[in-house]
Amino acid sequence: MNLELSEEQAAVRRLAEDFVAREVTPYAAAWDRAESVDRSIVKKLGALGFLGLTVPEEYGGSGGDHLAYCLVTEELGRGDSSVRGIVSVSLGLVAKTVAHWGSEEQKRAWLPRLTSGEALGCFGLTEPGTGSDAGNLATRAVRDGGDYVINGSKMFITNGTWADLVLLFARTNDTPGHRGVSAFLVPADAPGLSRRPIHGKLGLRGQATAEVVLQDVRVPASALLGPEGKGFSIAMSALAKGRMSVAAGCVGIARAALDAAVGYAGQREQFGRSIAHYQLVQELISDISVDVDAARLLTWRVADLIDRGEEFATAASKAKLFASEAAVRAANNALQVYGGYGYIDEYPVGKLARDARVMTLYEGTSQIQKLIIGRAETGVSAF
Ligand SMILES: Cc1cc2nc3c(=O)[nH]c(=O)nc-3n(C[C@H](O)[C@H](O)[C@H](O)COP(=O)(O)OP(=O)(O)OC[C@H]3O[C@@H](n4cnc5c(N)ncnc54)[C@H](O)[C@@H]3O)c2cc1C
Repeated sequence: MNLELSEEQAAVRRLAEDFVAREVTPYAAAWDRAESVDRSIVKKLGALGFLGLTVPEEYGGSGGDHLAYCLVTEELGRGDSSVRGIVSVSLGLVAKTVAHWGSEEQKRAWLPRLTSGEALGCFGLTEPGTGSDAGNLATRAVRDGGDYVINGSKMFITNGTWADLVLLFARTNDTPGHRGVSAFLVPADAPGLSRRPIHGKLGLRGQATAEVVLQDVRVPASALLGPEGKGFSIAMSALAKGRMSVAAGCVGIARAALDAAVGYAGQREQFGRSIAHYQLVQELISDISVDVDAARLLTWRVADLIDRGEEFATAASKAKLFASEAAVRAANNALQVYGGYGYIDEYPVGKLARDARVMTLYEGTSQIQKLIIGRAETGVSAF
């Protein structure tokens, strides 16, 4: 694995850095307070190609490899995790999945719109009654002539109220567990589909999170993504790559925490000199710095494995597990460096800590990542 960036990778990172400095960082605190990112950001992300990375150019994508995708995701995560999540879900979980599993017609219908930012995608797997045990989902899609009729409810859906397309997972037969699950591309304006915004989140407040309810939603059989009964494999393959993207976003959070802690420690004086002189403060900063490097290396390894066509799912779980826990530690350490000022939202570290906290929960909790890694090591499934 070559750790030196190519010219293209370095250029895409600079583009993302500039974009974040101009269009994200100055507004992130206000978006957090308003509980909404400015929606115009979606078109801007699309215009720069950030919603089309790794998607083939013939479908409107901007090409690039998975390391370039990680670089952009890290920069966005450093600026605002709510913005990073828009890309990780609409591109990482939805567009990339359509590109991999979709028919020619589905790819032509959705990918140019998703990659340009004209349309946004959301990923509907979790339900009120099933989170970690996603294979037991209850939403049903019943065949009716040339259509499917879908009933059920999806919980905590990122981009939920903004999305134009729902990549939806529903049960198409009575086989218990994950074997009866199929994937569908459901337009969000389909009659019978409604969205309830979820407010009051601890972090990621700028993000449009929703419960998506489906009451007799009728879609043609051509909305089925991949073979019937393959939905759970499709969801798991999307999430394995998605975990790399979450991990890269976590590296961004940890870097933001490092920058903030170093800056503050250098200018805050106590006992007659800057607190950066105190070894216990240096320890907090040193721990963040090591976490940044370790999390980034684990994440880049996943990108390298994917780009070389190697098996990557366990490496993605390791990266996601480590980077998400590292982001929580890093933000917490930075908050400690700020002392009491870290606890008020005039300073950036409180938001970092709140945004980091969800990373150990979604796209598979830390406990679930440990079970995946344990299964890979022992050959025994604890699920
Ligand atoms: C802000 C936010 C955005 C989200 N976005 C999306 C989205 O876009 N699409 C989507 O489909 N979902 C989304 N989710 C849902 C998320 O993926 C789930 O919350 C997550 O998978 C955990 O499910 P749960 O909340 O039902 O917790 P549960 O599964 O009920 O878990 C509760 C606790 O039990 C533990 N646990 C469960 N099973 C085991 C086990 N076998 N062994 C050990 N411990 C176990 C868990 O680790 C956890 O600590 C989002 C969630 C949040 C908070």
